[in-house]
Amino acid sequence: MTPNPSAGPALLTDAVRERAAYLAADDLPAYLYDLAELRAHAAAVRAALPERVELYYAAKANPEPEILTALAPYVDGFEVSSGGELAHVRKAVPHRPLAFGGPGKTPAEITAALELGVERFHVESEYELRMLGHLAAELAPGRTVPVLLRFNLPVGAALEGNSLAMGGRPTPFGLDPAQADGAVRLLTDGSHPQLELRGIHAHLASGLDAAAQLAVAAEVVAFAVGLAARHGIALPEVNVGGGMTVDYADPGARFDWTAYGAGLARLTAAHPGLLLRIEPGRALSAYCGWYATEALDVKPSHGEEFAVLRGGTHHLRTPATKGHDQPCAVLPVDHWPHPWPRPAAGQDHVTLTGQLCTPKDVLARRVPAPGLRAGDRVVFALAGAYAWNISHHDFLMHPRPGFHFLGSA
Ligand SMILES: *Cc1c(COP(=O)(O)O)cnc(C)c1O
Repeated sequence: MTPNPSAGPALLTDAVRERAAYLAADDLPAYLYDLAELRAHAAAVRAALPERVELYYAAKANPEPEILTALAPYVDGFEVSSGGELAHVRKAVPHRPLAFGGPGKTPAEITAALELGVERFHVESEYELRMLGHLAAELAPGRTVPVLLRFNLPVGAALEGNSLAMGGRPTPFGLDPAQADGAVRLLTDGSHPQLELRGIHAHLASGLDAAAQLAVAAEVVAFAVGLAARHGIALPEVNVGGGMTVDYADPGARFDWTAYGAGLARLTAAHPGLLLRIEPGRALSAYCGWYATEALDVKPSHGEEFAVLRGGTHHLRTPATKGHDQPCAVLPVDHWPHPWPRPAAGQDHVTLTGQLCTPKDVLARRVPAPGLRAGDRVVFALAGAYAWNISHHDFLMHPRPGFHFLGSA
């Protein structure tokens, strides 16, 4: 494997660098979120999107209330995928539109969503459609319930070779396109008069660049247009999902929001009356989070060198789940408070692991970190999405990290 080319101090904002250096060792590891960075990024994303394109944030990427609050001025709403997220997001950012999606919604979750009056239901199956119709009639008689049907569409060409592609192959997500006509009939034949079919939802892959995302969006819109024409109905809303790429090997790179926005503008221009919606998670919040810690020990093993860091993948599971090296920067600490000798790396490259008793607890392999010593600080970037909240916190019972929200308004 090639060394991580991006390890270096350029990955940190000033606020993050200062806090990572200033915290006491016992206050590490810590998640550092730079909310000023998040606001600037979200504003840039918003500015790149044309009219008639709404931006929702997929809360599952990082639902910290401070993150949701910082994003709120720049997004049109939030996508939630469980009853837990629904209650949490409604409380953290009240009065903001919510789209409720996700497979396997329970009657209790749909009841809660009806009671909270969520703005959009993303319906994932015929069973769910019928359940929603019945519960709406029972709990919210007379009220209109806006529905988008989620489809698992074949978007072959655009997604060739994409490992996280979910569209067009067997998955538990959304309706099969073969069910489309039946589902539309259920929504238009008077069976469930309260349910109002507003459009189509799809979330078909993650890790796509702007060109691939635009190809997917065009295919989803074409599907919606065809379905609407076949049934002589209007499908004014098309949500094309999230999945905009974050390049962990090149943390300075960004999804090309300008090209994406221009492409979406062409799509809406071609379809007057169409409202597009996107719901990124990772590509909005990944860049605002860091996981700061220190090297506890540095040692050789069979020709390589390892630094064992305070914490590990039970706090930052992202590199283990995605199989990558988490980009990081080393902040040297010259002071060594102990009477015993300080271990240091003799080689130029060091593998960074955590404290867990499993060989899977690796945060980054063969990082260029010549002379890395115990006590030096290591700060991992791109830890603002699918990081703390996807990690197995209780494995081995180490203490939890601290949480610091910097740059609050
Ligand atoms: C996870 C998810 C998203 C966000 O995906 P990202 O890759 O974080 O952008 C959007 N929509 C749905 C339905 C999802 O499940």
